[in-house]
Amino acid sequence: MSEEIERRKCVIIGSGPAGYTAAIYAARADLEPLMYTGLQPGGQLTITTEVDNYPGYPEGINGPEMMEDFRKQAERFDTEIRYELVTAVDLTGPVHKVIINDKVILADSVIIATGASAKWLGLESEERLNGFGVSACAVCDGFFYKGQEVVIVGAGDTAAEEASYLAKLCTKVTMLVRRDEMRASKAMQHRVMNTPNIEVRFNHNALEILGEKTVEGARVINNRTKEETVIPCTGFFVAIGHRPNTDIFKDWLDMDETGYLIVKPGTSKTGIEGVFVSGDASDKVYRQAVTAAGTGCMAALDAERYLTEKGIN
Ligand code: FAD
Repeated sequence: MSEEIERRKCVIIGSGPAGYTAAIYAARADLEPLMYTGLQPGGQLTITTEVDNYPGYPEGINGPEMMEDFRKQAERFDTEIRYELVTAVDLTGPVHKVIINDKVILADSVIIATGASAKWLGLESEERLNGFGVSACAVCDGFFYKGQEVVIVGAGDTAAEEASYLAKLCTKVTMLVRRDEMRASKAMQHRVMNTPNIEVRFNHNALEILGEKTVEGARVINNRTKEETVIPCTGFFVAIGHRPNTDIFKDWLDMDETGYLIVKPGTSKTGIEGVFVSGDASDKVYRQAVTAAGTGCMAALDAERYLTEKGIN
């Protein structure tokens, strides 16, 4: 049986760029935000090395350090941070319930910033070299492989788009496609197949990413002939999809078929009053720290206006 213990004006679920930015704005608007970090305090950027495209860091910065800066800024304005996972929500009433095991927080507004997780192949070498040549984001990390050879795994639109992006920077892109055809749209397939420095290897799987400290190659297998080959490369990109962390909202909020939360266009508002969404949890297109931070700001401003209208703040 759950026990109701606290009431808060604003609860933020998630501690990536979206959550922390929402916290900075909400705290400065006197919403006294309470943040739950979840299992990955700092979010996805804590598993990457260099972040070179976030404005304000002219020399670049490593991901965990950047997220420490976000945290410090949120705490400077008295955001309360709890290192716990929200296990459920109940969005029935005008006052929402945010549930952490047997604890219930009554929240006048809720900002969802639970992000998304990249899907990985599950290879030991992929985990070991993650951030050292292995990446799930070509737009984020492609630049580091300028003038070099890379491999990308995937067959959908995102993989095709990322392969085209990489082909503009890299001398050669080898695309590994598990089946004998791509899932990407015909237009994207056409673009990939007509890019001279992209080689598509159909019916191929990656067996191992090679290299001690950084990526030096990929051992791959033709799953029809069983022939194994080594592709020299310095970057290995996995583009097999993302999974938004939105399971706990599925009984309450509108989502698309892959679980991305749907917001009213141009806002952070959901179909339920007082519940706002920011960051990758509702963004399958841009998926960048700066866009997540931008929508975190929007969510806090929307929450503040909502609470003011309700006479709560
Ligand atoms: P996330 O960063 O995904 O954070 C989600 C947060 O929600 C986490 O703190 C998690 O613990 C929490 N959470 C989830 N479920 C719960 C729950 N039930 N209760 C409480 N908390 C919960 N972008 C760039 O702009 N530049 C880059 O160089 C770059 N490099 C990247 C490299 C890699 C390897 C990856 C994977 C991504 C990279 N990105 C980069 C993308 C960027 O990390 C994301 O776009 C951004 O982190 C999304 O921010 P977010 O706040 O929406 O969510």
